[in-house]
Amino acid sequence: MDFGLSSAQQELKARVADFAQREVAPRAEQLDREQTFPTDLFRRVGEMGILSIPFSEEWGGLGLGVFDAVLALEELARADQSLAVGTMVSMATGLTLARFGSRELQEKYLPDIVAGRRICSIAGTEPQAGSDTAGFKTNARRDGDDWILNGQKAYITNPGTDISSFSLVLAITSPKDTNKKSFSLFLVPTGTPGYSVGEKYAKMGWRSSDTRPLYFDDCRLSGAQVVGEVDKGRIILHRGYQQARLFLATCSLGLAQASLDHAVSYAKERKAFGASLGRLQLIQEMVATISVKVAAARMLVYKAAWSFGAGGEPDLQDLSTAKYYATEIASECANLAVQVHGGWGFMDDCPPSRYLRDNRVCTIGDGSSQIQLLLIARANGLDVSF
Ligand SMILES: Cc1cc2nc3c(=O)[nH]c(=O)nc-3n(C[C@H](O)[C@H](O)[C@H](O)COP(=O)(O)OP(=O)(O)OC[C@H]3O[C@@H](n4cnc5c(N)ncnc54)[C@H](O)[C@@H]3O)c2cc1C
Repeated sequence: MDFGLSSAQQELKARVADFAQREVAPRAEQLDREQTFPTDLFRRVGEMGILSIPFSEEWGGLGLGVFDAVLALEELARADQSLAVGTMVSMATGLTLARFGSRELQEKYLPDIVAGRRICSIAGTEPQAGSDTAGFKTNARRDGDDWILNGQKAYITNPGTDISSFSLVLAITSPKDTNKKSFSLFLVPTGTPGYSVGEKYAKMGWRSSDTRPLYFDDCRLSGAQVVGEVDKGRIILHRGYQQARLFLATCSLGLAQASLDHAVSYAKERKAFGASLGRLQLIQEMVATISVKVAAARMLVYKAAWSFGAGGEPDLQDLSTAKYYATEIASECANLAVQVHGGWGFMDDCPPSRYLRDNRVCTIGDGSSQIQLLLIARANGLDVSF
């Protein structure tokens, strides 16, 4: 067992950390206030080669692995989880297209996604169902060689920016009268007639990330816009979500590390009772507690990332364990960092207060904590049905 990063991985992590701390972290607070997606900064993420890490050289990628992508996303999220989330959704969606899409779709869409010139989204959730994917209602019916898409998606990341390229949309494709629903995944380009993107939601956190509802009203798609096999879309979407699940755990890890960074520096600089806060043992306990949780989360996230191997199947128990633990502890770490900062910790301009708001959704999205616990119980041999 080797716990060390290679020198190339250390160099990659340091390069992204340098970029993120210089160009991303100083803008995070203002972007949170403005609640607008920062196209220019996302493009810089692309120029830095961050999006390209896990893609094949054929599409302009660096040909590295999911593990390397995790190292970079961790540093990006340490600077701004909102930007990291938009980045990771586009990366996971692009990887889904790279794995399951036709050559025609890959050639047309992947180079811009890999370079970060455009951004993309993946749409499963609907107003009436999220965890329960069998409860989705959006449907596509055949019309000759075409498909006609109708329905609605909710809480989708990245669809309404000025560089949004396409959304991968899950829709029922089995006939209405069958008992067993089957789904297909469609690539729907921005601007397709019958496809519209609603107003962005007002959110508690991830405020500079673009989150919107999608509407499909007799949206005509050609047969070539199906990603993977017809009626196999749910499996493909779940595969895409597996990568997103790991990347979301990584976003929480980066935010937990940032909570530690701020707690340590404030404990050193703030004076109380004639010495630094950091001399007080209960402050030391809070800092040490954050540190232990960050270290444990990093081990779990890296192990899950490692289990993806070079394009292989991930270990699903490792993945759920990492997602559950990292997303839960990041909120605890942000909360402790707020406590270390005292009254300032409650103010909008204190980064840990934003971390607490941002991370809150991480235990809900991409398979909530409850769903991860059910998957872990199932992996331990219990008869779990949901
Ligand atoms: C900011 C934001 C961005 C998002 N981005 C995307 C995106 O890009 N693409 C996308 O498809 N979706 C996206 N989502 C949706 C997100 O994935 C869903 O909100 C999530 O899957 C939960 O679904 P739900 O909201 O319908 O809650 P529900 O599934 O209705 O769950 C409600 C509660 O019940 C619990 N629960 C559900 N089932 C069970 C069970 N069997 N046993 C025990 N407890 C259970 C859940 O854990 C939760 O606490 C986003 C959401 C947000 C808030």
